[in-house]
Amino acid sequence: MKRSYIRKILDAIDKDTISFAGGLPNEDLFPLKQISKASKKVLKDKSSLQYSKSQGIDSLREKIANFYTKVYNLKTTKDEILITTGSQQAFDIILKSLNVNNLIVESPSYIGALSAFRILNKNIKDFKTFEQLNNILKKDEVLYSISDYQNPSTYTYTKKQRKEVANILKEKDAYLIEDAAYSLLNFEGKIKKPICSFYKDKSYHLGTFSKIVAPGLRVGWIRANKELIEKIIVVKESLDLHTSTFNQMILDKYLEDNNVFEHIEKNAKNYKKRMNYMADCMEKYLPNFEFKRPKGGMFIYGKFNNINDSMDLATKALEKKVAFVPAQVFYFDEQKSNEARFNFTNCNFKETKKGIKILAELTK
Ligand code: PMP
Repeated sequence: MKRSYIRKILDAIDKDTISFAGGLPNEDLFPLKQISKASKKVLKDKSSLQYSKSQGIDSLREKIANFYTKVYNLKTTKDEILITTGSQQAFDIILKSLNVNNLIVESPSYIGALSAFRILNKNIKDFKTFEQLNNILKKDEVLYSISDYQNPSTYTYTKKQRKEVANILKEKDAYLIEDAAYSLLNFEGKIKKPICSFYKDKSYHLGTFSKIVAPGLRVGWIRANKELIEKIIVVKESLDLHTSTFNQMILDKYLEDNNVFEHIEKNAKNYKKRMNYMADCMEKYLPNFEFKRPKGGMFIYGKFNNINDSMDLATKALEKKVAFVPAQVFYFDEQKSNEARFNFTNCNFKETKKGIKILAELTK
């Protein structure tokens, strides 16, 4: 067991460092006033400081369920939602409720999921093509997929690919954990139907308020059928009884009094501008970094054609007070890589340009 590379870099970053490393939402976009108003209202009700249901408070689950019906056209009831302490907790809950040892992940994949799987001593295998997926996935095993603006690769499955994956899952009678952390943070104005809409029986769909409202509240959720929810309630209960009642109620009130979709749209517009600026700087100053502009999310991902090991570059860059994440940490076997992930949601234009120019110097 070891600490996540990203968490370690975040600790090493000081106020003089230009950080493209973490996946933090921009604090200037937090709905501070609205959350403060919601908190005040919630505190008038004593039950906000009381224990509550392990599955999560009814009215918040109801809103999340309605949101599935509205956004994904996936009819959902509140009984099919369980509130988690951030979507990160969902990995632990789901895997502890299932008797499986093998997990199949995309290559590369989200570092936090990899560490959650590792700490539970699961065997991890990865795939790059659907042919590989088809070969390695076996009955009752688990596929973990981030189908929209994948972290780190930014890849988004097409509708055809979603159906193809669903067919493989059906054929293998396997489980799906579909992580939709960035699904709503899209720059296209179009939301794709999740894989789980084509594969309903053994699927868990994970959502979170972290990227669309605020991560510090630590509120996420799992959508699954009632049978699976019954099993995961038992685990949730044993882990932390329930997610903070107060934070759930704040979010519930916030959603009641505000149009969260307007807020998300505002954030996505802001992030898109930052992404395009970073992409312009990269094209101008870092021509050896090959990437595609993402259509959503918080990252630019690509590969350096002129270096072999981005870990080495990241170490040198940190000495020059620029941080980014070398892709080695996103591969479950930590293979050396010339790929890298850059977060664009936090730096202003001036810092972005300066940071990219420093990297350009280092890679010359
Ligand atoms: N999934 C993905 C793909 C993520 O990038 C993150 C956060 N970086 C999470 C899940 C966890 O988010 P949270 O626990 O804040 O909901």
